[in-house]
Amino acid sequence: MSATYINLDQALEKVEIAHELFLKNKGDFQNRPIDKIKKVGEILLARKKEFAHVISLEMGKPVFESIAEIEKSALNCDFYTEHVEEFLKDRTYSTDRYNAIVRYEPMGVILGVMPWNFPFWQAFRFAIPTILAGNTIVLKHASNVPKSAQLIEDIFTEAGFEKGTYLNLHLESKNIQKIIEHPAIKAVSLTGSEKAGASVASVAGKEIKKSVLELGGSNAFIVMDDADLDLIIDKAINARYRNAGQSCIAAKRFLVQEGIYDEFLKKFTEKVKALKMGDPFDETTEIGPMARVDLAEELEKQVNDSVKMGAKIITGGNRNEAYYDPTVLTDISIEMPVFKEETFGPVAVVKKIKSFEEAVELSNLSTFGLGVSICTESVEKYSDKIHLFEEGAVFFNELVRSDPKLPFGGVKKSGFGRELSEEGIREFVNIKTIVIS
Ligand code: NDP
Repeated sequence: MSATYINLDQALEKVEIAHELFLKNKGDFQNRPIDKIKKVGEILLARKKEFAHVISLEMGKPVFESIAEIEKSALNCDFYTEHVEEFLKDRTYSTDRYNAIVRYEPMGVILGVMPWNFPFWQAFRFAIPTILAGNTIVLKHASNVPKSAQLIEDIFTEAGFEKGTYLNLHLESKNIQKIIEHPAIKAVSLTGSEKAGASVASVAGKEIKKSVLELGGSNAFIVMDDADLDLIIDKAINARYRNAGQSCIAAKRFLVQEGIYDEFLKKFTEKVKALKMGDPFDETTEIGPMARVDLAEELEKQVNDSVKMGAKIITGGNRNEAYYDPTVLTDISIEMPVFKEETFGPVAVVKKIKSFEEAVELSNLSTFGLGVSICTESVEKYSDKIHLFEEGAVFFNELVRSDPKLPFGGVKKSGFGRELSEEGIREFVNIKTIVIS
């Protein structure tokens, strides 16, 4: 892959191109490129099979999931073209002393650093609102999805955007520091690991530049005794095994109350055993390989170390190259790697709990804080307990998922800032206060 990397000088040249384009169009930012973003959405849908093929080829997810990813990226185009004017319109305020306007101006060139797990969605989630706000983008994508990365730039070009609106930087991550330090870069958005996030945010912090971080998660999926298993069991499976478990918002720790534990474990395990693992291009495949062998090896180590500490494998536990069997573990203690670390693959830990209070305590033990699912037929009973969860999202009877309409992001080591919705599009703007006395 390294042969195709661009060097730092070439990357800085792209930053300059994006900067010049920004300056050229700066005064006209309220003339938003709605038609071109609509065109981006149309291209995504018209060529979804082709794009999905590339995603599956590069990172292994089953084609049906790749197609869903492209469709969701197109949906994001629809959502923001419909709402951008309302989200970023001038706000007026009057007091007895003066009239004021609050205006959302673009910032300039924004750097994106994106991961491989949803190669299209992660990039479009960031790019669509950022461009509609009037910024330009340079995007360093993950090294293992170079074709997806280039295709995304090509889509913006095909939709009629001027060169410099969205530029792909196929650059080694060691060079990112110099990109952030370039005066034209005004902010950075990173989705990825805690390590990458800390590195990027510390450079940005030193430069006094804004960063938005969307890092890992170890979401709890709480099942109370009164949960409707028929309603939630498929959601529980989907929450953990979709994308071969390689999702920050996946449910990773199932905390199940004692009265329903045996029934939940039985039904859950039956469904896990029935999952069809195989070739991502076979349309009946439900779980493909993990994105890289090293990631599967890391997961295997987390499981094996936990088994040595007393965890019991109910099903799965085997690896063949990048394929890791859908796995269920019980007899979990809080010191085990599978409980205290993020498991970025198809491994569920199921732990028995006595009470809601215990669920809250265990859920909050994670250093991450992206989201939690609570399954119960008595939502009202817990509605005054939502504040107890140190999370960016609380979903009742539903798997945590991102939706263009809703803010997305976490607290604690899951990062800061929000993507999507009205909150997301206001991350990369200069909120300018104008007073007329
Ligand atoms: P990384 O965090 O290393 O990769 C994500 C992106 O960050 C890639 O574009 C990567 O580039 C880049 N990057 C990595 N290090 C730096 C750095 N120091 N400075 C600037 N950019 C950097 O994730 P991995 O692929 O190594 O996956 C490891 C773990 O990260 C997973 O197991 C999972 O826990 C977590 N992760 C979380 C994701 C999420 O959605 N929140 C997504 C992906 C991973 P390059 O590919 O060139 O190294």
